[in-house]
Amino acid sequence: MKKLEQLYEGKAKKVFATDDPNLVIVSYKDDATALNGKKRGTIAGKGVINNQMSNHLMKMLEKNGIPTHFVEEISGTDTVVKKVEIVPLEVIVRNVAAGSLSKRLGLPEGTPMRKPVIEYCYKCDALDDPMVNEYHIAAMGWADDLTMQTIAKYALKINKLLLAYFKKLNVDLIDFKIEFGTTADGTVVLADEISPDTCRFWDSTTHEKLDKDRFRRDMGGVEEAYEEMAHRLQLD
Ligand code: ADP
Ligand code: UDP
Repeated sequence: MKKLEQLYEGKAKKVFATDDPNLVIVSYKDDATALNGKKRGTIAGKGVINNQMSNHLMKMLEKNGIPTHFVEEISGTDTVVKKVEIVPLEVIVRNVAAGSLSKRLGLPEGTPMRKPVIEYCYKCDALDDPMVNEYHIAAMGWADDLTMQTIAKYALKINKLLLAYFKKLNVDLIDFKIEFGTTADGTVVLADEISPDTCRFWDSTTHEKLDKDRFRRDMGGVEEAYEEMAHRLQLD
């Protein structure tokens, strides 16, 4: 399948049309941003690792009953996916307090929680992706109630499946962000990516960070962390 015109260039990926109106090609870049685009850099090899890891995890989720946009990996950085209309929400699932939740509630990073937390942020760079709740989502018409019930159900199931999957690799899944979309026939599917850009991964033994926080926080060892995750998933 060939890339036709570029439809979109985001911070981490480009999206191309194909000769099938229901399919697009996503092309993963090494570019990295943080602080909503204010911090920029590159992470060598990230495009390939994120493409492969995201596809690997989506295939695992699909086998376990989660519909996804994945169709076919066509190169190191490029994948054919179902074209969806993205629900304009970042769906965040948290198992352990970290990042913005730690700041907001004054909880030290690493504080365990009694159950997973789902948060929604409205996807809008100009507003810094503000947190919203189900009432805002319904009031603005970003998604209907049935779609939100499906999204919440899938998000918790994805969390269970990923927690168990990563535990076997001696990795704690602290939190992650996912996106959903609707295909031409109205099916809600998991879209976008699941990678060290969008998840917090901590080594279960040493609690070493193996994700984009190393870039966000200038910790060094950024490429090495992505490579370590690729290695544990046996992508190399
Ligand atoms: P951003 O837009 O935040 O800079 P990316 O660089 O990752 O993010 O760009 C990828 C874009 O493609 C995102 O806006 C994402 O919502 C969108 N997207 C992801 N999967 C699909 C899909 N299957 N169909 C259409 N758009 C998608
Ligand atoms: N996240 C993401 N994209 C965003 C914001 C967050 O992928 O635009 C992920 C992030 O990697 C983490 C989780 O969502 O795994 C929760 O992030 P948090 O709200 O703590 O934000 P941050 O600390 O990055 O500001």
